[in-house]
This record gives sequence, structure tokens and C-alpha cells, in this order.
Amino acid sequence: MLSWYRRNARDLPWRRTRDPYRIWVSEIMLQQTRVAAAVPYYERFLKRFPDVKSLARAKESDVLAAWSGLGYYSRARNLHQAAKQILARGAFPDDYDSLRELPGVGPYTAAAIASIAFGLPRAVVDGNVRRVISRLTCGSGRAEEVAEDVLDRKRPGEFNQALMELGATVCLPREPKCPMCPVADLCEARRQGRQADFPIRPPRPARVRVTRTLVLAMRNRKVLLALRNGFWELPEIEQVPDAAVGRDVGQFRHSIMNHDYTVTVREARVSRAPRGCEWVVESNLYKMPLSTMTRKALARSSRTVFGGGASAAGGPGSTSMSGSSPCRRISVSSIPIQTSASTPNIRSKNRVN
Ligand code: SF4
Repeated sequence: MLSWYRRNARDLPWRRTRDPYRIWVSEIMLQQTRVAAAVPYYERFLKRFPDVKSLARAKESDVLAAWSGLGYYSRARNLHQAAKQILARGAFPDDYDSLRELPGVGPYTAAAIASIAFGLPRAVVDGNVRRVISRLTCGSGRAEEVAEDVLDRKRPGEFNQALMELGATVCLPREPKCPMCPVADLCEARRQGRQADFPIRPPRPARVRVTRTLVLAMRNRKVLLALRNGFWELPEIEQVPDAAVGRDVGQFRHSIMNHDYTVTVREARVSRAPRGCEWVVESNLYKMPLSTMTRKALARSSRTVFGGGASAAGGPGSTSMSGSSPCRRISVSSIPIQTSASTPNIRSKNRVN
């Protein structure tokens, strides 16, 4: 595995360092972002925040701005909070248990930093490793236990990366490149011709269809928003019983997990913010966690109101809205998004390629 890895490893910026800070940033970014997409963000982020101190002392809005476009903003917030904790401790945690105490660092991320930066014998199990092990063993062992058993304890960081690289570039989900695989002779699934049977996936839950109507109400350069599960959203029509509802400004589809939403956005006049809602100054939207659904709703309304798409509303990605009053503009392209499915610390096993 190690000699294969040394010959075939992709040249990635986080592989040129053993600086725990840089490895940590890369691991957090890679939890929900593909390698090719993460590279430019990684380089820009490190240029802006080259070490723990600069990140810890930054304003949250600056951290979010540097993360803007990567999505799953709780990752950036956790990174920021963790940097403050590290600065307060006076040193980067250098063992698995201390790493696990940092916000946003789950078992996978802690094992990755511990093994790659500090050479500690901790096996990592991400989605790629799980697939490789599942095929090697025909699903006969727990991936975590097998990974611990086979780990090269003299070079755990390199070995972990080799196994992940094998899954990312050779043992592919749909068409594994078995003739190129350095462990093909050990692979039970290959011997049985059953590569496609592994990993065994649980049955997919049935899709649930949901219709929602969101209310777009504006007043004095403020937009009415509701706080729901930690994210700000346009309120649903049921939340604003006194609204004078006007025309549809758009409809779109949106999926979260196994829910398929059909969302209609309607303009409305609202005199008083109902319970659970607030009037939010437009210029503050960029620093608030907005749901993806709300961002989509804002963009949709732009196209409808101006009829000529976003450019008519003030350039690409900007949205204008109006009721019967003069148009007001919101630049949605600069608004950080969080999806309600954003639980990267829990999903750290799902490092993507
Ligand atoms: S032989 Fe094929 S299925 Fe088995 S680990 Fe290698 S690439 Fe994956």
C-alpha cells in the first residue's frame, strides 16, 4: 500500500505539510466538499488565516466570507470557535482525546489529524476506506476494527492516506479499477466477482413530497424572517395569519434528505411581525445563516419581479424585490448559506473526493 501510494498519490497542498493547523483546515473542508473544489478555497483560506492565531482573532463575518461558496457554514463557525479554544490553551492539541474536544472534530477528523500531523496510530474510516474494507472482506468485518487491525503503526498517517487514496482513485463506487489495485490479490469481493455488492447499503427511505408557501414581506428596507432550527427563513404562510397575501412571485423545487419540497413564494403586506418572526435589515442578511430554501426563494422573486433575470436586478446573483412599493435590492450572492442538513461533525466519515 505504501509503495503504491508513494507512486500514485495526487499532489495536494495539504499533503505537503505536517502542520496540524493546515491539516485540520483541509480535513474540515473535505468533509462536505470535493477535493478539486476545495483546493482553491483551502489556499485562499490559509492565505487569509495562515495560523491558529489569525483565525482565532478574526471576526466571524470575515471567516464566513472566506468560506463563502463552500456551504455548510457550521464548519466555518466550529473552526473559528475551535481556533479560539486552541489559542486559549496555548498549544494545538496533540492527542486524539484532546482533538475530539474541539468543536466540529469528530472521530474521523481527530484520527486524521492525530495520525497525519502527529504520527499517532489511529485508523481513519471515511466513506472511501469503508468501501475498500467492505470489498476486501465481503462485508464480514466492522470497518473500524479492520482498519485498526491493518493499520501500519510505524507510518499511520501515510497508511491512512493511502487507504483513502485507494478508495478515492481506484476502488471507485461504481466501477472499481481492480486491475490497477495494489491489494487485488487480497480482495474477496474481486475473487467472487461481487464488487458491486459492497458496501451493503441500507434501503433508501421513501421520498416524501411536501408543498410549502413562503411569504415575502418587506417594509422599510427590512424583510420578514422566521427563525427555524437555527436558520433564518422566509416565514410560511401559516405563520403570518394577518398577512395580506398578494401575487405569486415564483415556484421552485428543493430537496432535503428524503423530502421533496415544492415551494411557492408569495408577496404579502404584513403590518406587525408575528410571534417567531422578525424584521431583518436587508444589509444584515449577508452575515446571517439563511436556509438554502430561502436563498432560492429570494433569487426566484428577483427573476419574476424584474422579468429580465438577475442582471436586471443589479448584476449577477443579485435579487430585487418589490411589493407595491419601490424596488429594494438584496445581493443574495454574498449571503452565506447553511443548509438544514449541515451536520459535518457527525458526517465526518463522509469525506468526499
Ligand atoms: S480489487 Fe477492486 S474491489 Fe477489491 S479493493 Fe481493489 S479496487 Fe476495490
